[in-house]
Amino acid sequence: MLSEFDLIKKYFSVKPLTHPQLALGIGDDCALINPQPGMQLAISSDMLVSGRHFFPDVDPRSLGHKSLAVNLSDLAAMGASPLGFTLAIALPEVNEAWLAPFSEGLLALARQFNCPLIGGDTTKGPLNICITILGELPSGLALKRTAAQVGDDIWISGALGDARLALAALKNEVRLDAEAFAKAAARLHTPTPRIALGLALRGLAHAALDISDGLTGDLGHILAASAVGAEIDVDSLPIGAVLASQKNALQRQFALTGGDDYELCFTASSTRRSQVLTAAQTANTPVTRIGRIVAPTGLRILDKNKKELSLALQSFDHFRTD
Ligand code: ADP
Ligand code: MG
Repeated sequence: MLSEFDLIKKYFSVKPLTHPQLALGIGDDCALINPQPGMQLAISSDMLVSGRHFFPDVDPRSLGHKSLAVNLSDLAAMGASPLGFTLAIALPEVNEAWLAPFSEGLLALARQFNCPLIGGDTTKGPLNICITILGELPSGLALKRTAAQVGDDIWISGALGDARLALAALKNEVRLDAEAFAKAAARLHTPTPRIALGLALRGLAHAALDISDGLTGDLGHILAASAVGAEIDVDSLPIGAVLASQKNALQRQFALTGGDDYELCFTASSTRRSQVLTAAQTANTPVTRIGRIVAPTGLRILDKNKKELSLALQSFDHFRTD
């Protein structure tokens, strides 16, 4: 049986990534990072709890990917570039058949974004994965939730709702054929962090966040923080490729309220539409204009005839009891 140190060595610190600012990685009491002048650190943690954020039997490679992807997505939503991350993990047992693919999925995504694993903690306990990620951005250029302005356009990256559709299929709420399910499940299990888009939007977008709990609820955070309201044109929402073949009502519901898409929702002045499209092209990431920031508070969902929809649309909230 592997000792804790052998486990860390074998699965988390073989061939560690380098980063120009990483002075010391795994192995000492702390990792050391050299900050750059004029830059701010961006720091975020996300905890994934078995049975709450993922099914206990989920493919460990996907889980490794997703654990880091949701953290990279937070950096993207702030306009930060990755510096490194720590991994605090509780494992019920030393199961190498699980650890090997988990670390492969995790470290493959780390390599893709040059975001080294720089430390962590390993303990025995119910499966729980907590990653803290560090990034940096030029001081003052963070895409904050407080920064939306009346007259801004609201934009969304990629497409919405396929992750929710995969979840619905897993819960037997809808039926999908094998090919459709595989496509939607990839969106649920291996989301793509929109780092390049976040960087391209520095100094251009006003407010931004990533959609983890559903568009209406997450956009609500921007509205509350910025003390503004919004109108969403429901018929302009980019619908996920798999969801697009479902009934219209389900498309709307999942695109508006489905979680786990990890797309960026951001606002930018309507005078800068062409710059936004150019930034999206630079980042090789499609974006769609879905509405506007207005002065009256609250969120209104409009159809193409400008008729307001009165859907009871709520985002996911862990502490809601109904
Ligand atoms: P400490 O006694 O300070 O808690 P540990 O013995 O837990 O240190 O860890 C030894 C080294 O291994 C430290 O550099 C720590 O950051 C790193 N480490 C521990 N667990 C992990 C992990 N799951 N992933 C990456 N690095 C880890
Ligand atoms: Mg420790």
